[in-house]
Formats: sequence, structure tokens, C-alpha cells
Amino acid sequence: MFEKQICIPSAEEIIAERPVPKELKAIKAERDRLATDVITGKSDKLLVIVGPCSAHEQKPVLDYVARLGKLNEKVKERLVLVPRIYTAKPRTKGVGYKGMFSQPDPEHKEDTLRGIRTIRELLLHSIEQSGLSAADEMLYPENYAYVEDLLTYVAVGARSSENQLHRLVASGVEQPVGFKNPMSGSIPVLMNSIFAAQSPQVFKYHEWQVGTRGNPYAHAVLRGRVDNYGNDIPNYHYETVMQVLESYHNAEGGLSNPAVIIDCNHSNSAKQFKQQIRIAEEVLQNRLYDRDFKQIVKGFMIESFLVEGCQQHDVVYGQSITDPCLGWEDTERLILDIAEKV
Ligand code: PEP
Ligand code: MN
Repeated sequence: MFEKQICIPSAEEIIAERPVPKELKAIKAERDRLATDVITGKSDKLLVIVGPCSAHEQKPVLDYVARLGKLNEKVKERLVLVPRIYTAKPRTKGVGYKGMFSQPDPEHKEDTLRGIRTIRELLLHSIEQSGLSAADEMLYPENYAYVEDLLTYVAVGARSSENQLHRLVASGVEQPVGFKNPMSGSIPVLMNSIFAAQSPQVFKYHEWQVGTRGNPYAHAVLRGRVDNYGNDIPNYHYETVMQVLESYHNAEGGLSNPAVIIDCNHSNSAKQFKQQIRIAEEVLQNRLYDRDFKQIVKGFMIESFLVEGCQQHDVVYGQSITDPCLGWEDTERLILDIAEKV
């Protein structure tokens, strides 16, 4: 039984309500170019996808991205900063806060229509305030259509990487799509995701059978894995990254643009958020020793917000209500340091 609760207009209708103004479209196109140039190796800058685990409230997120916009001025010759504005959250047990997309107010019940309108406002304002266009996780592939004109980076989460529809929709995205390794840590599964997304595909999407050309910017994101006993096992080390490189080279049918982004939190840090600093530093150090390692590691994903740590309910302004994050001062220091060591 599915009780019909709210009728949701089509993506075309929602976008027509609040289209992206011409000036912001131009900014986004330039940010897309900067990000894709990192993935293809045309640019040797590093991509840094940084921001809260979930964007649960507009104001602190806009404050945060404004700071990131200012910081970008100092590092733009070496880094491409992409704010994490994640509006749909996968939940390990399927219950709890599921993101602004379905819950525009985390303390109130689901209202997907208001959620969709709210996140379009947030993504638009964030480009306006920071000059940076955002990354989000494509948790529900069909919802991507509502924000496709606003994102510069799309992540496919660890619980979704193996899913056919995620892979097929990623093949039609024109920006970089980062596939997290699955929770098991399987590198073959991860490579299959990238292969599927880099291939042209035909499938049903919304009201249409659609055809895609394949996304050459689909790539790997290493987030650590969870073993059969629930322990977090990191996979940002030299050995795993080199194994991913080898898998790229040996892929049957061929893969474009070998690229790895290191997710510094999640099972890599065992959510010990401060460890993100050490993990990034260690990866930067490895880049100094091996040319192949240096070439394939194209950047970092960092969970960060105004206030460090996390909270159960939205009481502290600018603190995560999902995974624990670095605070702003540590983040600023880390980003300046990454820029110095690129
Ligand atoms: C995240 O990036 O917040 C996230 C949920 O990641 P993962 O899919 O790796 O668990
Ligand atoms: Mn997270």
C-alpha cells in the first residue's frame, strides 16, 4: 500500500519556477570546467569537496560557503574547491533524518515538495554568495533531475555504487561523478561502477526512454570499508591506491581518466573527524614519493562545518546533525596546507 501524500511536479516544472539566472549559469559552467580539467589531468590542481556531512539548515550552510568563497581566492591557483551541500542522506538502518530533500526542517515531518524548492534556493544562493557551485550525493537517481543544472560534482554513496540505476543515470551526467567504494571495499565492484557510468546507456528515466553518451569523468572515491564484524578498515594507503591504478589499466574494454579522490572521513577515519587532517597529510606525503600515485590522486573529500563534531538535534548553529565534522579553523588551516603541498 502506498498512501498518496503530496503530488510532486515534474523536474521541468520545478526548474521553470526558479531557473538559474544567466550570470550564475556562467559561473557554474566555469566551475564545471575547472573540476573536469582536474579529472582529465588537463589541470594539475587538486579537487577538494568540502563541507558538512548533511546540509540541514540554509543559514549556516550559506555562512559556511561564503567563508569557502573567500578562502578560494587564496588557493584558486592550486585547488578547485567544491562545497559539499548534501541534501539526501543514506541511513545505515533506513531510519532517522534523511536530508533537506525530504525534510526541509529536520525537526518536522517529511515535505518533499518544500524540500525540493528549498534545496534549489540553497544551491542558487550558495553560488551567488561564494562563486562556487556545489556537490551533492545522488542518493535517489530520479531526484537528480531537480538539481542537475546546479551541481558541479555528484557523488554516488557506498550503499548505492553497486546499484544499476545509479550507474546508468551517472552515465548521463556531464560533470564528474565520484563512486564511493562499496561498504565491503571491493575494488572490482567499484571498477564495474565506473565502467558502467563511462559507457553509453539506454534506459527509462522519468517519463522517457533516454540515451546517454557515457560519462568519461566518472571516477573512484576511497572511503574505507567495513569488515564482516563491523570494524572500519581504512583504504587511503599507498597500496590500495596503487591497486586501483592497476585495475584502471587492466580494465577490460578500457576506462578513461584514472582518478581517485580520498574521502578523509567515514571508514577511513572511523569518523574520528580530527583524523581527517592526518589522513590528508599522509596522502600528500605519498604524492611526493611516487609519480603514478601523485597523478591518480586528484583530490580530497573532507567533512567540515562551522563548529566541529556533531549533535543529535539542531541546537548548536553550524554543527552537523549527521557525521562529525572538522570545525572551520582546522578546515581553513588544512585547505591552506593542501594548497601549499599540491
Ligand atoms: C557521506 O559522504 O556523507 C556518506 C554518507 O558517505 P558513504 O556513502 O561513503 O557512507
Ligand atoms: Mn558523512
